[in-house]
Amino acid sequence: MDELVEEIRICRRCGLWKRAKNPVPGEGNLDASLMIIGEAPGYSEDVEGRPFVGAAGKLLDRLLSGIDLNRREVYIGNIVKHRPPLNRDPKPDEIEACTPYLDRQIEIIKPKIIVPLGRHSAMSILSKMNIEVRRISEVRGKIYVDRRPDFPIRIMPTFHPAIALYNPRYRSTLEEDFTRIKMELQRL
Ligand code: URA
Repeated sequence: MDELVEEIRICRRCGLWKRAKNPVPGEGNLDASLMIIGEAPGYSEDVEGRPFVGAAGKLLDRLLSGIDLNRREVYIGNIVKHRPPLNRDPKPDEIEACTPYLDRQIEIIKPKIIVPLGRHSAMSILSKMNIEVRRISEVRGKIYVDRRPDFPIRIMPTFHPAIALYNPRYRSTLEEDFTRIKMELQRL
């Protein structure tokens, strides 16, 4: 993982590095059963070089503590490792350039469950299983089993926590989905 982080640090595969302050490779337990994948770093993440340290990250911390986990026990990463300017959505070519890093992180960590947060993350992760995601609400809370030859991974998308900051009615759905994640982790 250290080598990979170094490669991300000097990555020039797309143009996002030019305006970013820091890369945000991801952090957490390299033996984690649960991997949480956001979309891209925002303002605070870019400043600190760490994932989910802003307002959405505080909510993610609360969702984790609600199922008796903390961020040191899981691995938290993003599809795209540098902040898109003004928090715009990452472009398809930026996602394509960056996903080999995420694929290698998954190979290293070998999680039992991956939780993509939000539509872009779910789209990118489920596209590898040829599952098309039009709306996050169609796939959230469902479990998709990626039966890869090396190790099976369960993929359970949910809403991005940022949406619950603007619209609190999503909060209880996120809590329900995290309870389901806890149940799955106990079962596996
Ligand atoms: N939103 C994301 O998708 N990722 C982060 O790291 C922070 C906010």
